[in-house]
Amino acid sequence: MEKPSTAVWKLVLDELELSLSHANFTTWFKPTKLTSIDDGTATVVVPNIFAKRQFEVKFNDQVMQVLQKHLSNVTSIYYVVESSATSRRSSVSREIPAEPQLQPGSQSASQTQSRRPATSTSGLNPKYSFENFIVGSSNDLAYSACQAIAVEPGTKYNPLFIYGGVGLGKTHLIQAVGNKIVENNPSSRVLYISSETFVKEFLDHIRFKKTGFGDKYRNVDTLIIDDMQFIAGKEKTQEEFFHTFNTLHQTNKQIIIGSDKPPRSIPTLTERLRSRLEWGMAIDIQMPDFETRCAILEAKASASGVELDRATTEFLAENIKTNIRELEGALNQLLAYAEMRGITPDVSTAEGLLGDVRKHRPAHLSPRQIIDKTAKHFQLDVKDICSARRDKYIVVPRQIAMYLLRSELHMSFPRIANELGRKDHTTAIHSVEKIEKSIKLDYTTREQVATIREMLYA
Ligand code: ADP
Ligand code: MG
Repeated sequence: MEKPSTAVWKLVLDELELSLSHANFTTWFKPTKLTSIDDGTATVVVPNIFAKRQFEVKFNDQVMQVLQKHLSNVTSIYYVVESSATSRRSSVSREIPAEPQLQPGSQSASQTQSRRPATSTSGLNPKYSFENFIVGSSNDLAYSACQAIAVEPGTKYNPLFIYGGVGLGKTHLIQAVGNKIVENNPSSRVLYISSETFVKEFLDHIRFKKTGFGDKYRNVDTLIIDDMQFIAGKEKTQEEFFHTFNTLHQTNKQIIIGSDKPPRSIPTLTERLRSRLEWGMAIDIQMPDFETRCAILEAKASASGVELDRATTEFLAENIKTNIRELEGALNQLLAYAEMRGITPDVSTAEGLLGDVRKHRPAHLSPRQIIDKTAKHFQLDVKDICSARRDKYIVVPRQIAMYLLRSELHMSFPRIANELGRKDHTTAIHSVEKIEKSIKLDYTTREQVATIREMLYA
């Protein structure tokens, strides 16, 4: 066993920092150590179980790539949680706790009784709970962090920043935290609002000299702000929010934020507000995989008192990959249709209904258009994308074009290769796989692909 120098790990971290967001880097990478290398296996100590999971599922390839540059004999990485005995509790406020052990239904009877209806002033909607939120690998981190906060608001991740595309469950989760906090402690003051409401109330306060604006937000124990992206460009409101944030944060009040983008990607966010938002923990929610989509459908159907057969569930899960809101919409449509006709929903009914949905796709979408739009998005010439050039700024757009040819037109790999002037179709396979993977792991790629898709169907 050899003991690696800390300098090597520092080099690795320095390099990784360049390709990561500030929040990701400080939350996950900064507290790590490389402790040993044994028979090609590097052992990296991470502070907690959350981090271990993040590294295993999200960052392993990235870390491996950089590590191998410096230590070519390393072939695998083993992530271990720093044992609590050896960890020093130096920075209490930033410390990430072990994963909470919460089981649905584990609450005591007295807690159940204290459940109270949402008051309109809290902005909470009781229909959103942890119990009816289905957990899969696309959202389990966000779910665990939210549960941890619900147990002890204000002591852990503060602020907690949950981001992800539309209809993926952000509002559901952050509302569930609010509901749980009130359930656990009915006297706790929780306020949920959209940042749009915040903006509007702030403008009213200035225009009509309405009073009580600041107090309303500063006198709460937990402030949940949804759709934070709407605060973009509104400088005065951002400033007001910045002060609210500071007041709450200084007094250990919990702040939870939902947004369709991570702080660094919200345009025109003032630098100081951005840095505040990155203080705590930022976690993204992604589109759930097929199995989780099936589980969501089953849960929703059974909540409506209907047992869907497996084939119908799989058909819906297979065909709706955009977001959960649409998945839910399709299911409701199917259930309503079946109920009206007094029939049991099955695959052929679903096919009939979804067929309509699919017709909205332009029939004329051609491989050329996909390549053109992709090139345009990256401000490249079509002939560059179709050339043999290997420059990175061309390679990635080319891979994205290949991915879109596959996902939108279901073209075969040889045809995809052919469209892009490649002879060998293994390049196309490799490219499509690579983009599929980076869509899961990397916010930027996801955004790029989504934007091009929007252009294609606009
Ligand atoms: P977002 O705020 O991210 O746009 P929402 O929280 O409004 O999305 O979710 C859209 C719909 O999908 C809601 O009805 C929500 O209850 C449901 N939903 C989202 N994620 C899940 C999940 N994991 N389990 C059950 N329902 C979910
Ligand atoms: Mg929402």
